[in-house]
Amino acid sequence: MVKAGIKTEVLNLDQDKKKQAAPIVFGEVRSKANPNAKTILFYNHYDVQPEEPVEFWEVDPFSGKVKGNYIYGRGSADDKGELITRIKAVEYFLKKTGDVPCNVKFIVEGEEEVGSVNIEKYLSKYRHKLAADVVIWEDGYVDEKNRPIIGLGTKGLLYVELIARGPSRDVHSSLAVLIENPSWRLVRALNSIRNAKGKILIKDWYREVREFTSMELELVSREQFNEQEFKREYGVRKFVNDLRGIQARKALISVPACNIAGLAAGYAGQGAKTVLPSVAVAKIDFRLVPNMDPKKQLVRLTHHLKKHGFGKDIEIKFINGEAPSRTAINEPFVKQVTDSAAETFRIEPIIRVSSSGTGPMHSFVKVLGTPCVSIGSTCINARVHSPNEFARIDLLNKATKCIAAILENFGKPSTVASK
Ligand SMILES: [Zn+2]
Repeated sequence: MVKAGIKTEVLNLDQDKKKQAAPIVFGEVRSKANPNAKTILFYNHYDVQPEEPVEFWEVDPFSGKVKGNYIYGRGSADDKGELITRIKAVEYFLKKTGDVPCNVKFIVEGEEEVGSVNIEKYLSKYRHKLAADVVIWEDGYVDEKNRPIIGLGTKGLLYVELIARGPSRDVHSSLAVLIENPSWRLVRALNSIRNAKGKILIKDWYREVREFTSMELELVSREQFNEQEFKREYGVRKFVNDLRGIQARKALISVPACNIAGLAAGYAGQGAKTVLPSVAVAKIDFRLVPNMDPKKQLVRLTHHLKKHGFGKDIEIKFINGEAPSRTAINEPFVKQVTDSAAETFRIEPIIRVSSSGTGPMHSFVKVLGTPCVSIGSTCINARVHSPNEFARIDLLNKATKCIAAILENFGKPSTVASK
């Protein structure tokens, strides 16, 4: 950012270095010609998911190896690829004209991949410094036909660990006639949470779920969804609850889910070991949709386990929670981004009501009051979070031009009032 001519600063949450949250990199360029212009805020992150399993990588995960049109490496797409398109677009204007068409701010955080646990605190502490009119979100996908996907929302998340405790230490499994195995307790508890069709059985779980608005429904219905291609990509023959067509498409956007992300207990190595474990753990992520609240859902989960007799021996450890969020389709900035994308990608973009993934969009809407829109360079099969993650150079170029067009269009005096 410094090299590009962007004024930067490292922001911290606490003075005390020991309990320090990962710092945020803040960047700012004010428009000289138009200092009262509106402000666009780019939100990105510098942290990445772990590179494991390393043995499946064809290149060193941190090499950034370039092969033809591809850059391979952890973070090449998520999120350094996206970040560089924003920086380069700003650099382009600064090099060409010595100025930018509108005011520009950056925040680059370091905890996105662990649930952005401190972003709301940062936004609140620095709300004046970070104030903006609109936000360009950190991710942005391009489909298999090279159509940019303009994303308007994120699902929420509740991530917990269920820890079942049995005997004070692992014991000989001959004692299984007398000593209850916590793995069985955990399996029963898990089985009480979700049925085979994917429905969550916790009381009132769906209570606040809001239906699609008519505009949202229209967009979702219009969207192409290549079911067969999707199934082939992931090597599955059918979807949960045998969902098909539009129902499958809708589920990605608007259906809450309960996923077991990890299970650990006893001996899972090669061969036999007759053991009765002392502890069994399940990591669970619940995806939430508007207007579900992770805190409320956690209370419901706690009540559920208690009611089913697991209150004493299964502990719920809260890992993180994020509320869902959606920007309204008729927000003027959505049209500006769509027009800029159509112009630079030279193809009709897809507007997507929500991503099936999660991010801290809700915190931005809540604290800064900004609409958030995602647009970017990551092709849909870029293997983010997996081995051999890559960015496509042609798409990085197109997305950079698109961001430049957004800055230009946003700098023109128009509809949205300045803050
Ligand atoms: Zn990620």
